Amino acid sequence: MGDIEKLKIIVDRDECIGDGLCAEEAPKTFEIDDDEKAVVLNNSTDDRECILDAGKCCPVDAIIIEDKATGKKLCPEE
Ligand code: SF4
Repeated sequence: MGDIEKLKIIVDRDECIGDGLCAEEAPKTFEIDDDEKAVVLNNSTDDRECILDAGKCCPVDAIIIEDKATGKKLCPEE
């Protein structure tokens, strides 16, 4: 397994504009579904940096990532 088990990842589908940038950055973690919105693939093997880079590249801050162990919000950056 990748680092996804240690991260809580939520896509705010109301905010997502479906441009696919996250899926390009971390294709094992994010996928664009039939509604043209991003979904999280929970069996991702992408590493932590890759997942965080994908979250940070979202132009509308629709990807929220927290560290499960610490509860620290990693994305979007405040
Ligand atoms: S980068 Fe953001 S807006 Fe683009 S598809 Fe991913 S979640 Fe949606």
